[in-house]
Amino acid sequence: MSDTIAVIGAGQMGNGIAHVCAAAGLSVTMIDVSAEALARGKGTVEKNLDRQVKKGTLDAAAKDATLARIATNTDLGAVAGASFVIEAATENPALKFKIFSDIDRLAPAGAILATNTSSISITEIAAKTKRPADVIGMHFMNPVPVMQLVEIIRGLATSEETVTRTLSLATLVGKTPVQANDYPGFIANRVLLPMINEAVYCVMEGVGTPEAVDTVMKLGMNHPMGPLALADLIGLDTCLAILEVLHEGLGDSKYRACPLLRKYVAAGWMGRKSGRGFYEYK
Ligand code: NAD
Repeated sequence: MSDTIAVIGAGQMGNGIAHVCAAAGLSVTMIDVSAEALARGKGTVEKNLDRQVKKGTLDAAAKDATLARIATNTDLGAVAGASFVIEAATENPALKFKIFSDIDRLAPAGAILATNTSSISITEIAAKTKRPADVIGMHFMNPVPVMQLVEIIRGLATSEETVTRTLSLATLVGKTPVQANDYPGFIANRVLLPMINEAVYCVMEGVGTPEAVDTVMKLGMNHPMGPLALADLIGLDTCLAILEVLHEGLGDSKYRACPLLRKYVAAGWMGRKSGRGFYEYK
């Protein structure tokens, strides 16, 4: 029998996760504390499906059927109907700990409780429940409908059955899962953020302009996007927060955030979302 999915959080990531699950034929309930976020999230799914219809990669009937498989709810109690919960709410440890202690009470026995966290310990989140064997990291990349990868992160107590069911779901929704163990930053951010940070140091020390650094990485290393343009896309505040998790969690000074990154965040230069980061956005 196929899984019924509850996605907690209807933001950038949550609506993308709901989209790929519904497109794979699964019934999805998207849950958010904000009715407005739910309307916006569902609207984003519709816009993204429309784009596929215009491109001719999806027919209109499939679009309608996908949208019809996504229900919305402002009540966390709606996880009672799910066999697989994917939490994608705001990246805040206290908030996620509370959500997991609540869904431990509300979700049916045997349900998988997955989190899309970028940087919080899966083991620590799992410890907020009485069923840590059923808790796992399922780290989708942004934008979810486009990016191929899902990092699957085992907490200390995650069971083999939980890993197997999560790998199957990732494959069913068209993604390629890669397994990681639970250490700060997992694999993706552990490798990406030090590169971004080093690029910022190059700018601070006058080794090169942002354009020069990005061009070297694009043309010299075949990266589709330079590290500073990517940092602007992720959000400089998010980059700083992840570096702090790496620095604190791994205790190595090589993860210290570049002072120029801190200065930009202090100035409110967060990247694309604020109109200015290493580049300006109109
Ligand atoms: P977002 O701010 O776009 O969306 C978060 C949503 O969570 C909001 O709609 C908010 O109303 C909702 N929310 C807050 N508290 C809630 C609660 N108690 N119950 C239900 N919903 C609640 O954030 P996002 O970028 O979608 O990030 C979500 C998660 O995905 C975070 O853990 C983040 O680290 C992770 N993530 C983000 C990216 C990215 O590039 N944005 C990539 C990978 C993973």
